[in-house]
Amino acid sequence: MNIDDPWYVKDINFDPELKQLDIWINFNKGSKFPCPKCSGPNCSVHDTVEKEWRHLNFFEYKTYIHCRVPRVKCGNCRVHQIEVPWARKQSGFTFLMDSIILTMAQSMPILKIAKMFDEHDTRIWRVVIYYVKKSREKEDFSNVSIIGVDETSFKKGHKYVTIAADIENSKVIYVSEGKDSSTLTKFSEDLINHDGEPTMIQSISCDMSPSFISGISSEFPDAKITFDKFHVMKMINEAVDEVRKQEQSTIKELKNSKYLWLKNEENLSEKQSERFQNLKNQNLKTVRAYNIKLSLQEFWNSQNRKKAAQYLKKWYFRATHSRLTPITEAANTVKKHWDGILNYFDSKITNGILEGINSIVQLQKRNARGFKNVQYFINMIYLKLGKLKFELPT
Ligand SMILES: [Zn+2]
Repeated sequence: MNIDDPWYVKDINFDPELKQLDIWINFNKGSKFPCPKCSGPNCSVHDTVEKEWRHLNFFEYKTYIHCRVPRVKCGNCRVHQIEVPWARKQSGFTFLMDSIILTMAQSMPILKIAKMFDEHDTRIWRVVIYYVKKSREKEDFSNVSIIGVDETSFKKGHKYVTIAADIENSKVIYVSEGKDSSTLTKFSEDLINHDGEPTMIQSISCDMSPSFISGISSEFPDAKITFDKFHVMKMINEAVDEVRKQEQSTIKELKNSKYLWLKNEENLSEKQSERFQNLKNQNLKTVRAYNIKLSLQEFWNSQNRKKAAQYLKKWYFRATHSRLTPITEAANTVKKHWDGILNYFDSKITNGILEGINSIVQLQKRNARGFKNVQYFINMIYLKLGKLKFELPT
């Protein structure tokens, strides 16, 4: 524990029944300490406060440090409790304990750690939240210029958080509760607090949600929006499925065939593929919708923006003349977001990184069997995906 003068170990008690090791630390009589407020030297001890810290287990024995911590009387200020060298202020754990908790938290659910140490998970979370906050304070976003924004679900019943990632460094830089346009306002404030500059943001990738669009245009006026191609394709896939659902009332074979139209053909099993070929050879509305989807998929391979624009125009004409209402509606959504979709051919950004981030977040959620509150959820995201540099005490 690196205990140095004036501190010394006064007593040790080993209790095999309780499976507990207790260590008492004391300080030399007449010791002077610097003032924790103004650093004024040689303050005399005014009185002491009995404190206890959980330390690393000694084998399977829980270990506690006890100490009567001095409060010193400073000539300049008033009476203050000094900081001890083995733990941070107001913590019930020693530095070494903090270190091990934080290290474990990066690869283990907090509840599991709590169970292992036989501590309440609230105390473990407190350590995590403290170090996440501390390391985020030191983050520098002055070079961030390309952002991806996406939402991810926190709880069933439409509870969401919005995640902003630095796409070039594939790192989460901000998480906020909710998915309305105010999340972009808070993100912009946070960016400024970390030496970032909202007008430096050139490109933002996001889905077509109106709240993101309005938030971006008011907070990041110089950023070009690129509508994420995965979200555009998701929308058209949903339209295909809508056509299929309507048609299955007359064509029973279409029942339970959703994934055949969704997956890439080469990913189907032999049996699925046979069934799919059989459906595809029939004169079905679903087949027409599917072909329009395939043709939009091809659009993303266009050589440049000019060619892409020509392609999309033709596609739009075809889709709006398909006499398939869900497809026509999807085409109108494309029309409404025309420039932002075409911006892909200049920026070449997608939310691919955020899709990856999202799946890690959702995996954590399942492993933790949910999170008690949204702050825990947000801190977990920073811990796992914020690429934070923790300065762990050793
Ligand atoms: Zn002082």
